[in-house]
Amino acid sequence: MPEYSIGLDLGGTNLRAAAIDRAGDVLEKVSGSTPFSEGRDAVLAEMVQSISALRDRLGSAGLAGIGIGVPGFILIREGIIRNSNNLPFLEDFPIRDEIERRLSTSVVLENDANAAALGEKWRGAGREVDDLVLLTLGTGIGGGIISGGRVIRGFAGMAGEVGHLTVVPNGNPCGCGSQGCVEKHASATAVTAMARLMQLGESLSAKDIYDLAHRADEAGHKARQIWRVMGEALGLTLALLINTFNFPLYLLGGGMLPAWEFFAPSMLRTVDARSATYRLTKPSTRIDVATLGNEAGLYGAARLPWVETRNR
Ligand SMILES: [Zn+2]
Repeated sequence: MPEYSIGLDLGGTNLRAAAIDRAGDVLEKVSGSTPFSEGRDAVLAEMVQSISALRDRLGSAGLAGIGIGVPGFILIREGIIRNSNNLPFLEDFPIRDEIERRLSTSVVLENDANAAALGEKWRGAGREVDDLVLLTLGTGIGGGIISGGRVIRGFAGMAGEVGHLTVVPNGNPCGCGSQGCVEKHASATAVTAMARLMQLGESLSAKDIYDLAHRADEAGHKARQIWRVMGEALGLTLALLINTFNFPLYLLGGGMLPAWEFFAPSMLRTVDARSATYRLTKPSTRIDVATLGNEAGLYGAARLPWVETRNR
């Protein structure tokens, strides 16, 4: 039996787990079915059951470890989720220790966006580099930073919160308590809010606004304006990151990437104007598209036991 690890990705609405071997090939996969609305006990039971099912099928002998990606701000040493908008019922609960107790094995906990960045480094668009930043553009903006092939966690475990970098000094208020965070100006939620403000429609999705941008009429013009403004906010964020890290690769992932053709021109113009490091290192500094999609977090979670030992 080859060595394998189990990664579990606790998303905002459901969970998935996979057994993955050392080469990064998926051996087995399971999806949870418990609605998160049923609360903490139900979700914990589902997590334990999913991992157990994989371990039973593949045998305990080859299991290298278990990695779990969770949404929210985590305390890495304590193994708890300090704050999570998606899963408030898991806040300040010893989730890592409880799962370790129930499974009688050790668990590595990580923020889901950090895990996704590690997944892209291992099996996705970041395979060729050791240093990268991943930005996931969804209802919010998640971020993960990989340096030397490992997640930059910070002393508490809260590093990589690039979605809350300020890109507009007096910008839109954010749930984090600040304002002008990039996730309030360049996420799918921000794009749809702009569409409302532009009177394009009350309930348009980011996909609708992408479709509209192809049109030659007034609505198409407004839609392209939205993508241009979104691209500028993203470009400012990338300029800050490039100036800070001088990494070779910055990956963008998430559901809005199909609109690349509409936001990338203003994004790249802004990066060019705002970052001397970018200008001086072109074309070796690359801004590119992530390739693993929703699977990134699962791969990254499974990779954790092999690269992270500083769990506590
Ligand atoms: Zn914020």
